[in-house]
Amino acid sequence: MSSKAKQRSRAVAPVLDRRPRYDKAFLRTDHMAGLTAGAFHILAKPRGAVCNLACRYCFYSKKVDLYQGSSFRMSEEVLESYVRQVIQAHQGPEVVIAWQGGEPTLMGLDFFRRSIELERKYARPGQKVLNTIQTNGTLLDAEWCAFLHENDFLVGISIDGPEHLHDQLRVDAAGGPTFKEVMRGLRLLQEHKVEHNALVAINSVNAAHPLQVYRFLRGEARIRYIQFIPVVDRVPGTAKATEESVAPGSFGRFMMCAFDEWMRRDVGEVFVQAFDVALANWHGEPPSVCTNAPTCGTALALEHNGDLYSCDHFVDEGHLLGNILTTPMLEMVCGERQLRFGAGKAVLPRPCLECDVRFACNGGCPKDRFSTTHEGEPGLNYLCSGLKSFYHHIDAPMRMMSELLRQGRAPSEIMAMADRKG
Ligand code: SF4
Ligand code: SF4
Repeated sequence: MSSKAKQRSRAVAPVLDRRPRYDKAFLRTDHMAGLTAGAFHILAKPRGAVCNLACRYCFYSKKVDLYQGSSFRMSEEVLESYVRQVIQAHQGPEVVIAWQGGEPTLMGLDFFRRSIELERKYARPGQKVLNTIQTNGTLLDAEWCAFLHENDFLVGISIDGPEHLHDQLRVDAAGGPTFKEVMRGLRLLQEHKVEHNALVAINSVNAAHPLQVYRFLRGEARIRYIQFIPVVDRVPGTAKATEESVAPGSFGRFMMCAFDEWMRRDVGEVFVQAFDVALANWHGEPPSVCTNAPTCGTALALEHNGDLYSCDHFVDEGHLLGNILTTPMLEMVCGERQLRFGAGKAVLPRPCLECDVRFACNGGCPKDRFSTTHEGEPGLNYLCSGLKSFYHHIDAPMRMMSELLRQGRAPSEIMAMADRKG
């Protein structure tokens, strides 16, 4: 493992550092970023919700309505305030500047060049600033990739599987396919040796094809770091999920099937965030991802004009904390409202309180808690049945891998053990 990779691993998922030969923890760029104790993480959206694609399940595209008449371009003033305040708020040796959208590359390269200049201006001696960007990949070219490599960016690329699955929901504004453009961007990243991972949205289409999706990522796409995110969006005013959302059972089956394939041949070679996080949980470490943690509230979202929101999934009037140009960022991050928001995640319905896998699940993300329990209690996660099946399914192998870790051995030994068992 290179020293650069080690530094990044520590920054994003320090709890996993103690793993022998499994220590390149998942490198993450998305809204569910792992957080270190006392740290916070902000996803900045320099063009707000503006995007050159029109993915059918996008939950963020509607947010343009919050800023009608806006240019949707982050100003120099907001950029400098964001970079300065995030750097100054983190006393540790590393700090993350994270970009997301919408599609952040629509800002153009000069904006990001300026961001790097500002990072150099404000970083303390010895302080390392890590840059991450989540992109659909379609606008990347050689100049972009040279810049990303030179400045050590970690790039998350959104891809939903092989062409016939990806192109059903990840479409452009005219409803046309995008797969070929995404793959062109991915290949450029790989040619320029830019660190990257795949963000895969598990939706109503690709959920039925777990092996095709997983084998495509590992094989043709040559991705070693994978993040599976369930698409769950609620039909406004109802307790129903949209038609693009993944059904709970399908999600559970997808994750179980991908896990079995991973455990059979890829442990230590391919890193799937959910499996990595689960192993940490089974090993007695605190959950390192907000959705799995007992509380949340340390992953916030910054709109193009400096408005700061409680979370990327709660960009609405009720969760607007203020604007970083007029209120100190840290005051909002540590303020009463945000603390209450984060603590709210711990309020769980009875099935969760009595659940044998609560240590790993913790009720999931509050945005997905729109189901009711059999007793009629609200607040149960829509994905509960799928989550529970998945966690039960991985219980035995997770125990085995945790035991290997306790013995100072590599979790990847589980593959040979599984082989011997036949
Ligand atoms: S609501 Fe909480 S758990 Fe869900 S994404 Fe936001 S910070 Fe994470
Ligand atoms: S699996 Fe279901 S019952 Fe258990 S903690 Fe998760 S959401 Fe709650």
